[in-house]
Amino acid sequence: MGERAGVGARAWRWGPTASSFPYMAKPMPESCDICTATEMHPLLEVSLIGRRRVQVHRCRRCGFRQVRPRLTADQIKALYPSDYFDAGSPVGYADYAREFQRRQREAYFLNRWLRRLGSQGRLLEVGCALGFLLAGLKRSGWRVEGVDASAFAAHYASTRYDIDVACATLEQALFPDAAFDAVIQKDLLEHVGDPRAHLDETRRVLRPGGWLRLVTPNGEANLRPLVVASRQAGATPPVLDQGHLSFFCRRHLLRLFEECGFRCHRMRMIGITRGLRALGRLPGQRRFVRPAPPAETMSRPGAPGVAAPDDAAPDDAARFEELAARIDQEIATRHRGFKSWPPYYHYHRAMKQVDALPGWCEIGYDFECLLQRV
Ligand SMILES: [Zn+2]
Repeated sequence: MGERAGVGARAWRWGPTASSFPYMAKPMPESCDICTATEMHPLLEVSLIGRRRVQVHRCRRCGFRQVRPRLTADQIKALYPSDYFDAGSPVGYADYAREFQRRQREAYFLNRWLRRLGSQGRLLEVGCALGFLLAGLKRSGWRVEGVDASAFAAHYASTRYDIDVACATLEQALFPDAAFDAVIQKDLLEHVGDPRAHLDETRRVLRPGGWLRLVTPNGEANLRPLVVASRQAGATPPVLDQGHLSFFCRRHLLRLFEECGFRCHRMRMIGITRGLRALGRLPGQRRFVRPAPPAETMSRPGAPGVAAPDDAAPDDAARFEELAARIDQEIATRHRGFKSWPPYYHYHRAMKQVDALPGWCEIGYDFECLLQRV
């Protein structure tokens, strides 16, 4: 018995360990979100909204490109502090107030679509920002809700438009199963840390047969200007726009949709002129590379390694209200009467139709997809 115990102890003590075999100390490489191969290799170093340097990796098997290692939920949240929507801030949106009339125009046509689906329903916008689109969608008669990681966004949407916005990621919000008849996610999938898990969660909160409208950039149009700039800029990594973490092409999206339980009813490319510019087939590719923000933004609250994230300050309400009042003022200043006129909506829509092509051409700036939960 004693001898057996001794053998056991020796085997445990002298068995292979991480220190005797260094390769065992390496974590298992994370697999590709699309094809699950463990062949993600560094492609390009970029600066993420000027706050941190990250590596875009590329899967050798399927070509999918993504920032690795994945950012944690806290790191992603730090990319969207309250001043993300502040026109005076060197990071984030330069002029978010400009989006207000744009979103009202979109809502005008989406309301028609919602009414065709039913006189009543429950709609969720994931990544709803300040609630501009939801404010317009309230007129449909549907119950509309939002979820956004920014505390300021939730404050603005609730105080200005009386809309319920959960300050969280979709995964953290823990909505009940099959709670929604429709979900809208515009320019969101490229911001999440794990797109496959995110789409699984989206499916869970949609009822069977529920609809998902999704817009996400053409990854190639997103990355090509940065690849070109990185060759020219030498040691300075180019700034990756707006915290994009994943870069999809059409086949990546179609596979992801199918495997996550969605039927793709329509996929088209929108923003063809913009896409051709970004891809370098029309002049103007350089405008897609943001200038690096001043170095002091790296030491602001919310930057990696800097204590006291600004969304946790005790005077949040006063600070948020001051910024919200400024945004109200900017919206009023930006307002143009003719842009709220329905004939202008139709004219604008017709122009957009001209600037769109089927998804297979892959020369536009964004993929626009209409999906249905299987
Ligand atoms: Zn892959």
